[in-house]
Amino acid sequence: MANVLQTAPQDWKYVSEGGATIVFSYVGPSQPALDGMVLRLRKTALSAANLVHEVREWDFDSADPEDEPDDPSIEYQVKCMQRLIPAEHLPRLQTVTIRRSWLEAFSVFHNPARPEGRRIVDEVDLTKKKGVLATDLVGGHWLAVEIKPKWAFLASPTYLSDETKGVKTQTCRFCMHTHLRTQQGSQEITEYCPLDLFSGDECRILKAIHSLWNAWVASNATINNLKIFAEGKFLTPSECQLMFADRHAAGLDLKAIGDAFASTLIQPLLRTPLLRILSDLQRNLDPLDIEGLSKLWKLTESTIAMQTLQGSDSVPPYTPLGGRSPFFQSAEPHISEWIDFLDTYGSTDRPDAANVKPSPEDLRYFLLAYLLSATFKDCSVVVKLDFLQPYPQSTGTISSDSVTVIDLDPKKMSKLKGWEKLDAEIVRAYALANQKTCIDAWKSPQSVSSSQLTVPNRLS
Ligand SMILES: [Zn+2]
Repeated sequence: MANVLQTAPQDWKYVSEGGATIVFSYVGPSQPALDGMVLRLRKTALSAANLVHEVREWDFDSADPEDEPDDPSIEYQVKCMQRLIPAEHLPRLQTVTIRRSWLEAFSVFHNPARPEGRRIVDEVDLTKKKGVLATDLVGGHWLAVEIKPKWAFLASPTYLSDETKGVKTQTCRFCMHTHLRTQQGSQEITEYCPLDLFSGDECRILKAIHSLWNAWVASNATINNLKIFAEGKFLTPSECQLMFADRHAAGLDLKAIGDAFASTLIQPLLRTPLLRILSDLQRNLDPLDIEGLSKLWKLTESTIAMQTLQGSDSVPPYTPLGGRSPFFQSAEPHISEWIDFLDTYGSTDRPDAANVKPSPEDLRYFLLAYLLSATFKDCSVVVKLDFLQPYPQSTGTISSDSVTVIDLDPKKMSKLKGWEKLDAEIVRAYALANQKTCIDAWKSPQSVSSSQLTVPNRLS
């Protein structure tokens, strides 16, 4: 096991931070357990109230590191994601022991490198006894391309309403959402369609890469779907010469650089099975669409309510999708329930999406399935590339670990209500648009044509 306590603060370099964690890459003397790894540490707010709360929750002077639970991201990845995604496409994650005195020296040394806006609100959580060591996907001597592919499939018509069926089975969710964003004044205008990226077809994947590139250039690298790093440095279009092996791209305009980028990136994307795996998972875990899930929720609640409250005149109002229903288990899933869910998902007796029953068991299954599908709709893929050549040539063999999926965090039940509202808003706005046709290359030919879920009129 790697021992970070024997490293010095200067053996690490500040990389980046989000709301909850901060990341450093190992740059110290070579040692196999740490070379090519990053250390992710939890942060805590600087406010005194928070500090008191944290201390009460975790008595750092007397506690045994073994008593502190592992970081939830490790548990979810090891116990759930590794059952769905081959290990070579997941970052290597490992829990490491840390100590307050080590963290204090570390924090003092690295604080000046942090953005001031961050420094004034939070700091490394000195009470933690564990950190996470993970594969450094962007910081080495290579180009790292981070793509957020988004929704990989067209909705199945089975449980869609007559108003949405035509739109949702013709245009993909991402393209519809782009339209809404544009209407709302977003500068993130893009031609990118995820169904091209997921198609497995060379011409269509190239089209997707070019669309991502054009939006990256037009937005000055602020789009959410494409990020490019050279040796860990986040690039903007004015720095594109750093993408080349000799660090300059004499005489090449952005279009020519985009062509070199696309012809290099297409190779690993064509070879990797990962995109197809993500597409299958998203589709198989979301067979009802949020509309069908919402119908199932209402129908299950009304069925149980009628059984429970027989003879009563007052039936309580329906709970919003994902809320706390008094009639069935609707709490946020715990890790043990995710494991049980995956047992069912992998078995032959999983609930049949073509014949859904308004039972608490079926409802719970499809709720968790939808949340898991949402994780795969929101993950990112990091591709390690050789630096570009000014004149495209076929690249050498790409090792199997060169395409990795990240940001696989569990999604919360409490998000469902907002997603349902957003879905309705997206489709409503798109119904009035000039509708484009997105081609779903993997669409199942035997979609069920009629809904088995008939919600009583007063519910729908
Ligand atoms: Zn599309």
